[in-house]
Amino acid sequence: MPPLEISEIRIKLLENQRDKLRAFASLTVDRCVVVRDIKIIEGPGGLFVAMPSRKLMDRCFECGGKNHLRARYCNDCGARLESDRGESDLRGRPKLYADIAHPIHQAARDFVQGAILSAYRAEVERSTEEGYVAQSFEDLDYHAYEEWPEKELEG
Ligand SMILES: [Zn+2]
Repeated sequence: MPPLEISEIRIKLLENQRDKLRAFASLTVDRCVVVRDIKIIEGPGGLFVAMPSRKLMDRCFECGGKNHLRARYCNDCGARLESDRGESDLRGRPKLYADIAHPIHQAARDFVQGAILSAYRAEVERSTEEGYVAQSFEDLDYHAYEEWPEKELEG
């Protein structure tokens, strides 16, 4: 039995194939909750699903202004900030993002990632057919990807 019921998955394929980001997805759980801004990314080990995330911030020691952990200077007062702020992940890389919504155990993760990747493959298949019309997806946050630095996509 699946750990949860996925009512709908929408896939928005991206055209630029030189990019590592292949598609956006949205996921509806039990016809009740929608998770948007899921990314399908071509990583070194194949396709993977990135759940929506936000940048982690901390406060400037001078003025208390909020800055992204990667910022070298405060956005508000210009103070020079330390370069290694915040926590590291299990592989010792700086943890710059936190997931906003994500499966909380391995079985759910496998199930959700599997469902999204098969929906993605089905959409790729459909997109090769004549008269293909992309799924409606006006509500997507494209800017979220533009803020995602290339480095974060290299796993
Ligand atoms: Zn400051």
